[in-house]
Amino acid sequence: MDAWILRTTEYKESSKLIVAMGDEGVFSFVAKGMRNYKSPWRSLIEPFRHLELKLSNGTLPALQEARLLTPIDSAAASLEVMSYMGHLAELFYTLRDTIAFDKLYPYWLQTLPYMSVDPEGYGIMMEIKLLYVMGITPVFDRCVACESKERVGFSIADGGMLCQQHMTPEAITDHDLLIGIYQLYQQDLSTPLPNFERARTRRFVDQYFEYHVNVQTTARQMIRGVYNY
Ligand SMILES: [Zn+2]
Repeated sequence: MDAWILRTTEYKESSKLIVAMGDEGVFSFVAKGMRNYKSPWRSLIEPFRHLELKLSNGTLPALQEARLLTPIDSAAASLEVMSYMGHLAELFYTLRDTIAFDKLYPYWLQTLPYMSVDPEGYGIMMEIKLLYVMGITPVFDRCVACESKERVGFSIADGGMLCQQHMTPEAITDHDLLIGIYQLYQQDLSTPLPNFERARTRRFVDQYFEYHVNVQTTARQMIRGVYNY
């Protein structure tokens, strides 16, 4: 099966417990003896690798064969890329019960090569797309309270735009920010990313995830260390 490795932890004796995702969701398996020097898996099975796996049957399957599907990109080892990969891996894992992996996984594999080009830009884009595959897409084209096409500001709590009549003091009225987020939501991989205000967009996405799915990742602290926001 085709899989992207989310995390590895030490397991009984010289084995490792691996958590991965594929188009059917998140799953775990054991790579027996992989901490031994001679194990061919020792340097192959690492977080954020894209692999072909063959597993045994059972509730906790054992790894039988593994092979790299996407070549290792040396640029992907930078702190920026690793921080964003870690952040997304935590989101995928934490939100695994609400994500439609049949939609997310193929899209994530297509996005992977771009992550080493612009980890922040494509990372934020991926988070906005993630809202879509969880069914909590922000509503941009109408007031969420009354369906009016008049739009004055965006309410994170309500998950969309508000008209004058339904506006709240907390709603975001920074239209450049909102247009940028809407463009990222619409963006596909065939054209370069639009310019967007990164610090404010980062904050918006953090707040949206925190409010709607109550998630903050530990890798988010590393991202703050890299970008200062
Ligand atoms: Zn309204």
